Amino acid sequence: MTETTRTYDVIVIGGGPVGENVAERARSAGLSAVIVERELLGGECSFWACDPSKALLRPVVARADASRIPGLDPAVAGPLDVEAVLAHRDRMSSYWKDEDQVDWLNSVSVDLVRGHGRLTGPKQVVVQTPEGDDIALTARHAVAVSTGSRAALPPIPGLDTVRPWTSREATSADKVPGRLAVVGGGVVAVEMATAWQALGSQVTMLVREHGLLERMEPFAGALVTDGLREAGVDIRFDTTVTALAREDGEVRITLADGGRLAADEVLLATGRAPQTRDVGLETLGLTPGDWLTVDDTFRVTGVDGGWLYAVGDVNGRALMTHQGKYQARIAGAVIGARAKGEPVDDAPWGTHAATADHAAVPQVVFTTPEVASVGLTSREAERSGRRIEVVDYDLAQVAGAHQYGADYRGRARMLVDTERNIVVGVTFAGPGVGELVHSATIAVAGEVPLDRLWHAVPAFPTLGEVWLRLLETHRG
Ligand SMILES: Cc1cc2nc3c(=O)[nH]c(=O)nc-3n(C[C@H](O)[C@H](O)[C@H](O)COP(=O)(O)OP(=O)(O)OC[C@H]3O[C@@H](n4cnc5c(N)ncnc54)[C@H](O)[C@@H]3O)c2cc1C
Repeated sequence: MTETTRTYDVIVIGGGPVGENVAERARSAGLSAVIVERELLGGECSFWACDPSKALLRPVVARADASRIPGLDPAVAGPLDVEAVLAHRDRMSSYWKDEDQVDWLNSVSVDLVRGHGRLTGPKQVVVQTPEGDDIALTARHAVAVSTGSRAALPPIPGLDTVRPWTSREATSADKVPGRLAVVGGGVVAVEMATAWQALGSQVTMLVREHGLLERMEPFAGALVTDGLREAGVDIRFDTTVTALAREDGEVRITLADGGRLAADEVLLATGRAPQTRDVGLETLGLTPGDWLTVDDTFRVTGVDGGWLYAVGDVNGRALMTHQGKYQARIAGAVIGARAKGEPVDDAPWGTHAATADHAAVPQVVFTTPEVASVGLTSREAERSGRRIEVVDYDLAQVAGAHQYGADYRGRARMLVDTERNIVVGVTFAGPGVGELVHSATIAVAGEVPLDRLWHAVPAFPTLGEVWLRLLETHRG
């Protein structure tokens, strides 16, 4: 075992999309930076989450859209070409190789150390390489933990014996299971149920709650439920799994009501947990396994000296790549400013404060129909005690929706803060709404007064005309 020591201005533990961006932004601020990565540079998003899942879903969503268009419907009536879809997914996952991302990292002059990184004390990290060597790293200014999240598995008796699918297997499997049971009703569950049902599995969803996508507006979950059921998915609400076993090659599932179910594979899509169990947090008095709590500049609270940052999924603020990369842009810049003794602008909406994490996090669920949202839901608005007007509109009444086919179903909701006369939340559900979300994000993050939004004219005939209809409804 050899021990070498290297010093950098900034050490980033975890080379997912977020860690890559923290390092690149620190580098553009004139600091030296190194990334420690134990698996593939690019992280969960590139290889087992966003990219492969959207590659599986794109053909499904495109086919659903095409099947509503007169003249096109017969051409897409048959089953998907499974081999071609999986090959597309493999290509979009770069065949689980990270050479391209390593080339990019070299091009921005950030170093890479492969291995498992652990904090050993203030500004100290030791990397255990795959060869068994230890490399000691010292940071002059900051260490950023960007170790991401992993699937959180519930303590179901028999879990160890069934080799369940997590989001990793659900996005990288190369065989279509005849019967797939999906436990959970959140985003990963609905997206993967959509994909595998379309690829030929008989999917059964076992959902503990009373609806899907419970964190979003209820109409979104209801429309996605209809879409999944029409595609042939068996959805069972208020259903808790109490035991799992693999017998004779199949998974046997016992339910709380005494019911039983057999499947070829079971996907546990039951939430995420931070990857902080083995990062050396205990050496700083923090608790391994916890989410890392941060301020709006991503400094971990309770760590003396303000040198430890936590960026991306690991801080639990918004578990999405685009929002993590936003955090990374801010963290890299503020680390640079602090290192150079420059002023830090951490007032709300300032250059160095991730205010959008609280007010304007966009999300798209790539199901049939799609869901797109940003900002508050009506439930959250109610809890916040603000004076809110809820404005609903039937998306099927928008001229642009007619171009999507006669049986378009969808709904839009806009939440207006009536004291400030601005939009604080928007949810769309319906075919094609994913591409609408950025208009809503601009309205919410920009706090655009409704009187000015009235002058933002949507093009005819697009789905964007829903903005005009929402504003007209609001004006009464
Ligand atoms: C199925 C699925 C689909 C998703 N789809 C989308 C989507 O469409 N759009 C979207 O915006 N988000 C999506 N997400 C969320 C997105 O994947 C995450 O928000 C994103 O990957 C978080 O990036 P990150 O860099 O914080 O963490 P990660 O991508 O998890 O990367 C963390 C990295 O740290 C490394 N690491 C961990 N511990 C150590 C250690 N001790 N030493 C060295 N390296 C370490 C890991 O190997 C990993 O490479 C999806 C998630 C799932 C599960």
